[in-house]
Amino acid sequence: MSALIRRLPWPEAPAARAGRGGRIWPVLLPFAGCPRRCLYCQQERQTDTPARDLESAFAAMQEAMAAAPAGRTWDELAFYGGSFTALPEVWIERFLQAAAVWKRQGRIRRVRCSTRPDAVDAASLARWKALGLDVVELGVQSFQEHALAVSGRGYDGETARHACGLVRQAGLGLGVQLMPGLPGQQPGEAGQDVAQALALRPEGIRLYPCLVLEDTALAARWRQGLHRPRPLEAMAWTLGRAVLRCWEAGVPVWRMGVLESPALAMHILAGPRHPALGTMARSRAIFLWMRRHIPRREAAPDPPVRLILPRRASGEFWGVAGEMRPQYARLGVLPRHVAWHDAETVEIMERMA
Ligand code: SF4
Repeated sequence: MSALIRRLPWPEAPAARAGRGGRIWPVLLPFAGCPRRCLYCQQERQTDTPARDLESAFAAMQEAMAAAPAGRTWDELAFYGGSFTALPEVWIERFLQAAAVWKRQGRIRRVRCSTRPDAVDAASLARWKALGLDVVELGVQSFQEHALAVSGRGYDGETARHACGLVRQAGLGLGVQLMPGLPGQQPGEAGQDVAQALALRPEGIRLYPCLVLEDTALAARWRQGLHRPRPLEAMAWTLGRAVLRCWEAGVPVWRMGVLESPALAMHILAGPRHPALGTMARSRAIFLWMRRHIPRREAAPDPPVRLILPRRASGEFWGVAGEMRPQYARLGVLPRHVAWHDAETVEIMERMA
């Protein structure tokens, strides 16, 4: 009979897990409101939607809702692809008022938008909240001055922090988008960005590793050898550390990596990308957490262990195509030492040699 060494709650809380996903009806407004095109941004490719005038976008949104099957509902309607709060006020109000009608009808539960940190102020946020806005996602990308300057974002770290505070003070949900691997970012700064974002108590975080897309200023820099994207393996560990921090803070990671449509995939020139990037990151987060808790083999007289883990982690524990197995082997854990159960706990048991 093996003795229990430690029983621990699984690091990702069920509440944080529940915050992932949800049915979202995206209203895509590529580059709408943006004062300029940022170095790395190609929203038309990223959203698979051509830039269009607001009248057309508004009409398309209303047509789509009118054509939706009766009784169909969404968790959220989301204005994505540009800087929503930098639109002319009359348009912000038109979009929000239309969304409010559908909210009153019970077809959508919440309304969210994405925007730039330098495009919000307290009075406007209060007004938009009264019109039905619930969540503001700020495309912070980084809080680091050098990375923001090199990337030409047009605001500083203090502006980004202040904007996050304004969103929360207005009683709105805060989402923070970060871009690890941003040009000018130094090693370790992506982790500092995540820590700063979590200190601002967001409802959720998105992590979009910086990619080089065709038809961007970054593509030109990359061709000149002036930008070196982060390698995939290094980025996977950066994301893994970030995910673990988010789990420990109880903050869901809403998304990792861009959603690659075939059209977008054709225009990605370089950068850390993988169809299972989220799994790569989560399996590393699990490993980093397990490594803290598994008694080290070399630290005699700690016994070798066997693990009993939540069944829902079985698809991620060993990583994509078992890539984490060598890491666990170094801790003395082989597949035959691992079993699964339906509880939300990790049990570290003594293993008979
Ligand atoms: S990164 Fe954001 S602010 Fe910059 S061009 Fe793209 S959508 Fe606009």
